[in-house]
Amino acid sequence: MDRRQFVLLSTLFSGISVVNTAAAQFNFGKALEAGQTLLQSETLSDDQLRNYFDQMAADSDNRNRVAGSNDPYGKRLTKLTRGLENYDGLALDYKVYLTPQINAFAMANGTIRVYSGLMDKFTDDEIRYVIGHEIGHVKSGHTKARIQAAMRTSALKSAVAATGGKAAELAESQLGELFGQVITAQHSQANEREADDYALGFMNANRYPAMACVSALEKLDTLSGGGNASWLSTHPSPRERAARLKSQV
Ligand SMILES: [Zn+2]
Repeated sequence: MDRRQFVLLSTLFSGISVVNTAAAQFNFGKALEAGQTLLQSETLSDDQLRNYFDQMAADSDNRNRVAGSNDPYGKRLTKLTRGLENYDGLALDYKVYLTPQINAFAMANGTIRVYSGLMDKFTDDEIRYVIGHEIGHVKSGHTKARIQAAMRTSALKSAVAATGGKAAELAESQLGELFGQVITAQHSQANEREADDYALGFMNANRYPAMACVSALEKLDTLSGGGNASWLSTHPSPRERAARLKSQV
């Protein structure tokens, strides 16, 4: 299978199919009939953005099986993130989704979700690299840029405009749309490098072995034929990234 087929396949196996269904159900006509002058997304305050991420996180948690505090995966994640409850100005909220997918994501409100499929394959330090990388996307502004771009799309822009600048209560279908554009979309190579550089600094600052960045990416590269490695559809080119980080460790 070539790379493009693989990305397509892993995309099909990831949450995107759910998002597409949600988007199809969304009533665009109703959203547009508000017909108001549209807000510039840049005028969305940090409070509003945080509110949208809070809504997205709650919606995503509803759509997934979340490990309880007594679940072995939940216990393991709590243990390996000890001391990382706050990092670089973010209060972090960690949870495990019980699913065979190899995936993880972070949101600008401090939400971190790690999938049990990833935890099955990765060591504690490799999981820490993934967490550091995801925080890197948030701290480098990639996540914020994406939500601002998503709010410029017609349906969501109208929803925001209709509330006169306050954070709108988004419908489930709108949250699905937003999740697809902010979390499930593929990062550019430049963004990946930036998040990897951040992750390397994260590992060093917390005295975790930096080589775990390299071994995690090499592992992902070997797993790339498996169909469950959804993280690869959003975070491309693990082999080149492993080689680049190896030269920096
Ligand atoms: Zn990434």
